[in-house]
Amino acid sequence: MKKYLLTPGPTPIPENANLAMMKPIIHHRTPEFANIFEEVIEGLKYIFQTKNDIIVFAATGTGGMQASISNFLSSSDKILVIEGGKFGQRFSKIGKSYGLDVIPIEVEWGKAVDPEIIRQKLDSNEDIKAVYTTLCETSTGVLTDIKTIAEIVSATDAILVVDAVSALGVCELKTDEWNVDVVISGSQKGLMTPPGLSFISVSEKAWAKTEDSNLPEFYFSAMQGKDKLSSFNTPWTPAVTLLQGLNAVIKDIKKQGLENLLNKYAKLAKATRSAVESLEMEIFASQPANAVTAIKAPQGIDSQEVVKYMRDELGVIISGGQAQLKGKIMRIAHMGYMEEFDMIVAISALEVALKKLGYDLELGKGVAVAQNILFE
Ligand SMILES: *Cc1c(COP(=O)(O)O)cnc(C)c1O
Repeated sequence: MKKYLLTPGPTPIPENANLAMMKPIIHHRTPEFANIFEEVIEGLKYIFQTKNDIIVFAATGTGGMQASISNFLSSSDKILVIEGGKFGQRFSKIGKSYGLDVIPIEVEWGKAVDPEIIRQKLDSNEDIKAVYTTLCETSTGVLTDIKTIAEIVSATDAILVVDAVSALGVCELKTDEWNVDVVISGSQKGLMTPPGLSFISVSEKAWAKTEDSNLPEFYFSAMQGKDKLSSFNTPWTPAVTLLQGLNAVIKDIKKQGLENLLNKYAKLAKATRSAVESLEMEIFASQPANAVTAIKAPQGIDSQEVVKYMRDELGVIISGGQAQLKGKIMRIAHMGYMEEFDMIVAISALEVALKKLGYDLELGKGVAVAQNILFE
């Protein structure tokens, strides 16, 4: 059966990246590697929209999240964490594992945080050292208003950390213009490379915090990474093959232009949302991100069954809900190597699966709505 991978990570790999990863392995303490690494770092700066240093880890996104805590804080420091889903909660878990004083802002899943609440918390807790947020909360499909939050946080001594693992290169994020101190991303979502690379960008304000941070870290030391960055190398053996693949992706992204790419995802997401609504289903997120669309399962239908039918009978792989959303939502990704016809496949398969599972719909209705938006 032909498979279509339409999940919010991992995402499909473009042919150029696959071919680049088939090249013979090279040694990392060579000019050849330094050239590749320099291109990757410069390319990431373009996509992160930053002049800040970018540190690369051989780890998945969670490694970057951990680094964003251990490098900038000290034991029992106070941090503010926006918890509106599984990934926001992960920051709290990591923070607690380091013995930090975690102040969560619990946001109802599917809703976006009101930046004013962050302002109030910062006003009443002047000793908060950092604020942790998620650009696209992949578990709910919600987009966070980072621009407004950054205006609030940059006026304080706290640093702003944004988990953009699923949204970098997909949703707008102007790291420098908006004053975001630390941005975290990973390879297997918008960056169309296999899992195993994680990146953090670090502002001057955040570097200053590393000076008196006393939390333990070894492998994830940003300072050691920075040290080696000057010679376009890494402290430990880098994931050479993945970096070769990423370099090919970056070249393609530069060729297409970031702005064009973001516009494309906006169109894919809009077409998907409109198709879903035409089938009389609801979008789960009140403020939806263009990286992934979370769809409420119709009354009486278990979303896990829809996902399973699509995967096993149709070869179309989307995601269901996590934690308390299990059985309640379906998630279709727009990030990475996705184009118009990927959305047609997703919507068409969704219609077929829902009909098979007893939902009353007219086949092709959502597909036609999407076609009108995608090819207008
Ligand atoms: C995928 C993802 C991560 C990282 O997960 P890993 O499994 O460690 O790659 C972190 N945050 C968000 C928002 C994600 O979507």
